[in-house]
Amino acid sequence: MADPAECTIKVMCRFRPLNSSEVTRGDKYIPKFQGEDSVVIGGKPYVFDRVFQSNTSQEQVYTACAQQIVKDVLGGYNGTIFAYGQTSSGKTHTMEGNLHDTDGMGIIPRIVQDIFNYIYSMDENLEFHIKVSYFEIYLDKIRDLLDGECGGCFKPQGCTERFVSSPEEVMDTIDEGKSNRHVAVTNMNEHSSRSHSIFLINVKQENTQTEQKLSGKLYLVDLAGSEKVSKTGAEGAVLDEAKNINKSLSSLGNVISALAEGSTYVPYRDSKMTRILQDSLGGNCRTTIVICCSPSSYNDAETKSTLMFGQRAK
Ligand code: ADP
Ligand code: MG
Repeated sequence: MADPAECTIKVMCRFRPLNSSEVTRGDKYIPKFQGEDSVVIGGKPYVFDRVFQSNTSQEQVYTACAQQIVKDVLGGYNGTIFAYGQTSSGKTHTMEGNLHDTDGMGIIPRIVQDIFNYIYSMDENLEFHIKVSYFEIYLDKIRDLLDGECGGCFKPQGCTERFVSSPEEVMDTIDEGKSNRHVAVTNMNEHSSRSHSIFLINVKQENTQTEQKLSGKLYLVDLAGSEKVSKTGAEGAVLDEAKNINKSLSSLGNVISALAEGSTYVPYRDSKMTRILQDSLGGNCRTTIVICCSPSSYNDAETKSTLMFGQRAK
């Protein structure tokens, strides 16, 4: 069991491989890896808790990023795992991956499997209640993805809560949320790059003999794309979205760096997302940020800015 007094913020960094259009364009592969925790770009080293090279498997990423948090949540702690990075850097691949493929599964399906394996291994005196919610934050408003119309909620507790009793049921629930989200928006790719999607797992357990209770919750957050929208060209709604995303990501950065520095004032109230996550960030909570990066010379500037965001949290 982890030491409860230890405030744990881990920052991991993952590079995806070059994709085929980058190869066709003749982009260079720019990261140079040093050991297990450092990457050099343009001569400058960036150090994290771990750095994953492009060939790292989904299982290796899960083991390093999430396995301990799952144990802690089952031990009654709260936690949050974020994926941060520009659009197309591998956030959704990291968090979800292929939900129905053993090798391709990302962090969320592996967490779900681990939680149920734990439950199945425990003795009969322990009663478990697992419920999940799935929502997104778009322009500082919560939209419930498990409601067919993706209606709004004021707080996560107002969103649909689904009691689940097997990994398959959870995967079905995620698929349901994704298809509701598809129906609710016209361009899914654009939309998913401008909204934060959050999958929440609540674990309650009770020992029926001793009546001892434990509860923990885990927020799994696929953040909006961190790319800068060029100021020229963007107008109206697009500019509002861009400003809102910048503000929510920078306030997340401010909260995490205040926590990492141990400062007494943590500006949770500066954005909707940090207010929502307040009871699962800081204190005794477990937090992991996975910084997702493109290895292409074409994305050089965004990659550096992503790496800088990750460094602030250290
Ligand atoms: P994001 O969610 O950050 O916009 P995605 O996760 O959708 O990006 O990734 C963009 C594309 O790159 C997808 O087709 C995805 O399957 C692929 N991809 C991302 N990361 C990896 C990786 N580590 N290995 C192989 N393919 C990847
Ligand atoms: Mg995505």
